[in-house]
Amino acid sequence: MRALVTGGAGFIGSHLIDRLIGRGDEVVVLDNLSSGNLEFIQAHLDSGKATLVEGDITRFEDVEPAMKGIDCVFHLAANPDIRLGTRVTDTDLQQGTIATYNIVESMRLHDVKTIAFASSSVVYGEDAPLPTPENHGPCLPISLYGASKQAGEGLISSFVGTFGIQAYIFRFANIIGTRGTHGVIFDFIHKLKKDPSRLEVLGNGRQEKSYMEVGDCVDAILHVMSISDAPLNLYNLGSHDTASVRRIAEIVVETTGCHDASIEYTGGDRGWAGDIPRAMLGIEKMLSTGFDVRYNSEEAIRHTALALIEEIGLHEEMNT
Ligand code: NAD
Repeated sequence: MRALVTGGAGFIGSHLIDRLIGRGDEVVVLDNLSSGNLEFIQAHLDSGKATLVEGDITRFEDVEPAMKGIDCVFHLAANPDIRLGTRVTDTDLQQGTIATYNIVESMRLHDVKTIAFASSSVVYGEDAPLPTPENHGPCLPISLYGASKQAGEGLISSFVGTFGIQAYIFRFANIIGTRGTHGVIFDFIHKLKKDPSRLEVLGNGRQEKSYMEVGDCVDAILHVMSISDAPLNLYNLGSHDTASVRRIAEIVVETTGCHDASIEYTGGDRGWAGDIPRAMLGIEKMLSTGFDVRYNSEEAIRHTALALIEEIGLHEEMNT
């Protein structure tokens, strides 16, 4: 199969490419390298099993050349920073909504039949029952990022209904793991690297969410796609439990060895406007396909903290 991975140089995209190439697929990566890192996929580019089209998916003319001869699109490129929407109000519209239109419209013109889309738990908004099942509605997101994911889902389902493409929409929990370049664990480690004596935590630390290890996430995507064959397939992808931000701070302090760091909370029930303090996805539908995760939330957090500390060489740096 020839797969197009938008955002393939990013955190989740690069892990997905490892799996796709591992099973023998040919991969085209479409990425503008804004938050991605070529090093994550360099070995595949060097081997000739992946090719890079450097382009911006907000520009239709950049998408077109990458779509030729593609069997399946994995659409992951987007602005990864939910908080940015509190300052810049059209980023998610451009990088999420317009960009997703460019992808599905280009698929229609090139007769590409299948898309898998990286959506998010944040589409459910903050009043959803926990754990939240896929059939919860109405979905009323409270961030501009969430609105763009919901718009992307709507565009994709309308292209399924109108033009007969097949789609897999995956609503991810918080995905963490090696090569992470953003998110709470990454932020905490970098804060401690700057100042090992204190760790500032946004909010009161009681925010509670589920965390899924990135290898589990990409394995779940490919497993579900091999089992489920409806025209439109909607799945939550997450783990069995949650972890609080307070617990994450404690684990990061412990794993970095910054035992004397004082953990200081900025207060308030959420990290920033538009943040959802408590989220947990119902994963019964994912489990019913026969797939289960290897890591629970806390195991994934510990594994990620250790991996990111190693990746940025924190211990070596602190000992010099
Ligand atoms: P990431 O920032 O590591 O990857 C995004 C990639 O897209 C990067 O390589 C970036 O360079 C590229 N990109 C961004 N804008 C682009 C544009 N206009 N044109 C071309 N390329 C562009 O982020 P990630 O965590 O790997 O997220 C991948 C997808 O999963 C995103 O759609 C994100 O919204 C979604 N998601 C992530 C999480 C999570 O916890 N990481 C949770 C829910 C959903």
